[in-house]
Amino acid sequence: MRPELLFPLFAEVTALTGVGPQVGRLLGKLGLRRVVDLLWHRPIGLIDRRARPTVAAARHGEIATIAVRVDEHLKPRAPGRPYRIVCSDPSGTLVLVFFHAREDYLLRTLPIGSDRVVSGKVELYGDEVQMTHPDHIVPPERADSIPPVEPVYPLTAGLSPKLMAKITAAAIGRLPDLPEWNDTALLARERWPAWKPAVTALHAPVAAADIDPGTPARRRLAYDELLASQLALLLVRGRAQRRGHPVEGDGRLRRRAIAALPYQLTEAQNRTLAEIDADLRAPRRMSRLLQGDVGSGKTVVAFLAMLAAVECGRQAALMAPTEILARQHFATLSPLAEAAGIRLALLTGRDKGKARERIISDLAEGRIDIVVGTHALVQADVVYRALAVAVVDEQHRFGVEQRVEIAGKGQSVDLLAMTATPIPRTLTLALYGDMDVSRLDEKPAGRKPVDTRLVSLERLEEVIAAIGRTLEHGNRAYWVCPLVEESEKVDLAAVEERHRVLAERFPGRAALVHGSMKAAARDSAMRGFAGGETPLLVATTVIEVGVDVPAATVMVVEQAERFGLAQLHQLRGRIGRGAQPGTCLLLYRGPLGETAKARLTLMRETDDGFRIAEEDLRLRGAGDLLGTRQSGVPPFRIASLDTDSDLLAIARDDARLVLERDGGLEGPRGAALRVLLHLFERDTAARLFQRG
Ligand code: ADP
Ligand code: MG
Repeated sequence: MRPELLFPLFAEVTALTGVGPQVGRLLGKLGLRRVVDLLWHRPIGLIDRRARPTVAAARHGEIATIAVRVDEHLKPRAPGRPYRIVCSDPSGTLVLVFFHAREDYLLRTLPIGSDRVVSGKVELYGDEVQMTHPDHIVPPERADSIPPVEPVYPLTAGLSPKLMAKITAAAIGRLPDLPEWNDTALLARERWPAWKPAVTALHAPVAAADIDPGTPARRRLAYDELLASQLALLLVRGRAQRRGHPVEGDGRLRRRAIAALPYQLTEAQNRTLAEIDADLRAPRRMSRLLQGDVGSGKTVVAFLAMLAAVECGRQAALMAPTEILARQHFATLSPLAEAAGIRLALLTGRDKGKARERIISDLAEGRIDIVVGTHALVQADVVYRALAVAVVDEQHRFGVEQRVEIAGKGQSVDLLAMTATPIPRTLTLALYGDMDVSRLDEKPAGRKPVDTRLVSLERLEEVIAAIGRTLEHGNRAYWVCPLVEESEKVDLAAVEERHRVLAERFPGRAALVHGSMKAAARDSAMRGFAGGETPLLVATTVIEVGVDVPAATVMVVEQAERFGLAQLHQLRGRIGRGAQPGTCLLLYRGPLGETAKARLTLMRETDDGFRIAEEDLRLRGAGDLLGTRQSGVPPFRIASLDTDSDLLAIARDDARLVLERDGGLEGPRGAALRVLLHLFERDTAARLFQRG
């Protein structure tokens, strides 16, 4: 369980003085729900208030702190006009400008004849020197209360910089003293501060250089996080490599399934299957990541691997990140299961009551051989009679925790994780350091390359006309609009509006799916599209993950410049799966910046997922490539694979050494490392230690 020492950090933000439910909600929008979240929310700049010029000497456009006397209040001349307060010092006149201000408040804070110190941006308006909404207004005797330097944080509407700085300061005020978990020699060599001073320094920049990611304070904290993650990964691997039951299939079911395939397995599929088989037969547990570009045919490999478990009388499970995908897997695997003569079932969060109970008892009593489902597969009351092989599809949508959970559903479960997100080799260590990797680096024969074009939004009419032709030919098209959390409302309105326009042009033929729709409505829209009744699917990225509709030939991505390249590549992979060649139209709203243009051009030039990932990494940095938006699981809070990849190898070695010397984390450093695991919420890993 979480050490008591950390309780103050894991309290809700609303536990801080000055943070009520409303501010709490605003912070929530930034993903800041608990005190600890505030610690990792780094300043992105600073405001330097140290300049204390006279009015005449103040530089226009810059922040200054100025001592003045209040001369006169000028009320707004008309509604909507600002309230103006004329102030001066011996060198000149400074007008303070307030919009929508309450008069009584201004009379109280700036009474006529009083002396005040004000701090804010000085601007020249006509020939008048002004300061609009000063950030600080205090009497001279309290001038010291104006912070000389203030950190600037990423904000959201309604949250002022001043409030944010105050909240963070309150969070810093609650920092406990934590035991040192780092090797003292490393700290000395890198000249890193201890944990508490490091966090404090991170939030107290005094010069521009302190914002730089290279400061010892941030580097130390980044290292902490990498160490926690490497420790967790090694631990999971260590468990995985304990003795397991060998899974030795005799091939009889697999042969039947292969005979039922309408195609030949590719060489890459056969090779990876052989790698998996070797793992299954070995006495240690499998922990393998199957990487393969979109459409490389991972599902059938997983199915054949799972059959080996059934051949020796045991069970297998395939877990997908979304309901849509789980259903699709169930549909595509059903005929193969039938051919092999095994019992396949589907279990998702939507199964309730009697139906769910039946599936659960069938699993527990071994009447189901292979189960396909969502996260529902690892719910507490789901018990397997003999789970031997677990497959996690689209692994990048899950965390290491889910791997542990599903593996915990049986005695010595062999684990296969699959991902289509092409992760550059340099990053596999950080995210999948615990796994062996197989690559499906060949696409099934007969795939037509997708023709990718960049089209300005100004040519929307032509694009709609092209969609019309596609539908006339009996083909299907996707129309994808972006949706990100920060601008969810606007994005949702945009996709609904696009659907309205297209539905008007193609009456009865355009369906809509997005994440906030009821599941049943979403399913029926997907079915209508797959079945061809509604051959145009307007969607947000819910379709990104793994949907397979071979008759789809056109993919339109609106505001393509807002998508990550890996994500665009995933989307493009949805088409050109059947006999017809595909076209991908990347609609952008011009003019495009340099980087945006380079990125979209790359999409046009190559279809190689790994090259795209490498380039995206170069152009945008790892943070973005693996950011929440694309992977669903933010890999790191404070570490960045752009600036800290050198630390990764050190952390890896360190973690290894620790586990060699003190595998149970029982010594003094071990105890500190447990705190570290909890601090970065590697609780599952920490729990494993407790179980020993
Ligand atoms: P992904 O690797 O993206 O999960 P899928 O497993 O969904 O890919 O496979 C994509 C499509 O390719 C499916 O329609 C599948 O039936 C087909 N497929 C898989 N293997 C082959 C093959 N060897 N030859 C031809 N088509 C294949
Ligand atoms: Mg897939």
